[in-house]
Amino acid sequence: MSFPTRTNAIDFDSARLQRHGFVPTYSSAQPLDYEQLQRQLGLQLQTSLEADKILSIFFNQVQQLIPLDALRYKHLGTDLRLELGERARHNASYCMTHEGEQMGEVSFQRERRFGEQELTQLESLLTHLLYPLRNALLYRNASLSALRDPLTGAGNRIAMEQSLTREVEIARRQQQPLSVLMLDIDHFKVINDTHGHATGDAVLRAVTDAVKDRLRNIDQVFRFGGEEFLIVLTNTGRESAALVGERLRNAALKLSYPVNDQTVELTVSLGCSTLLPGESCDSMLRRADTALYAAKRQGRNRLEMAG
Ligand code: GH3
Ligand code: MG
Ligand code: MG
Repeated sequence: MSFPTRTNAIDFDSARLQRHGFVPTYSSAQPLDYEQLQRQLGLQLQTSLEADKILSIFFNQVQQLIPLDALRYKHLGTDLRLELGERARHNASYCMTHEGEQMGEVSFQRERRFGEQELTQLESLLTHLLYPLRNALLYRNASLSALRDPLTGAGNRIAMEQSLTREVEIARRQQQPLSVLMLDIDHFKVINDTHGHATGDAVLRAVTDAVKDRLRNIDQVFRFGGEEFLIVLTNTGRESAALVGERLRNAALKLSYPVNDQTVELTVSLGCSTLLPGESCDSMLRRADTALYAAKRQGRNRLEMAG
């Protein structure tokens, strides 16, 4: 089956021109609706500073004119990924920029093919997202930077503590399993010593990205220490956590970092623990750490489960 894909770049600076006169013409069946929608959008999109709320308002409002099955949004800079509705066969994607700044990629999906006029309307409606989305991204960035490790973009220790407290509460209240993985790069000191600190930094970033790429949206990655990461797996029991751990271990093996025509290869060791009834957060972390230590002792490049 083929999935026709259409990817466009939308530069808000020129797209805005469309709003000031260069407006495409629409069939006589819907002009009023379109204008009403424009006005409504303008008001509604100003009601929130949260990027996900703004996009969800946009998704709901636009449907009054153009039926859609799904909206997907991805902004790498603030690590925001949003999926609204049900995935469908036809796709129209737009990479949005404003004054050279990446504002994310939005895509619309549905089972029925998009008509040219619908796409023109969608593109024009997207210009209403410009300021609300830009403000929301600035706000998100400011909130995130207080909670993020600047080198890797993973959560920092403050974020980790907040998140773990919350996750343990949810797990207790909803009687869901909760697991954590403590991941440590093997012989990282050798990488630093052989290739230099800057390469070490690049490796830390690459490992973080590789880990993030292999997790679900709801899972979280924190930089626990120098070359040590904590991965929090929401609603995940022991067996599933072991599978995730193995997946991450294999992913690290496949990474290779070309440095001055040489390839840096690495392995990681992991310790995994699953929250016990009545157990404290600290105790769960200690058990993961002990398991990690066991993985190191037993030769590295392996995952150990806490007892
Ligand atoms: P093991 O397999 O036992 O984990 O050995 P290791 O060499 O990975 O562990 P060790 O704790 O001996 O060394 C960790 C090194 O990580 C030492 C430290 O200089 C380096 N490191 C810590 N933070 C950073 C960082 O932000 N950037 C870089 N490049 N190196 C860092
Ligand atoms: Mg290490
Ligand atoms: Mg370490």
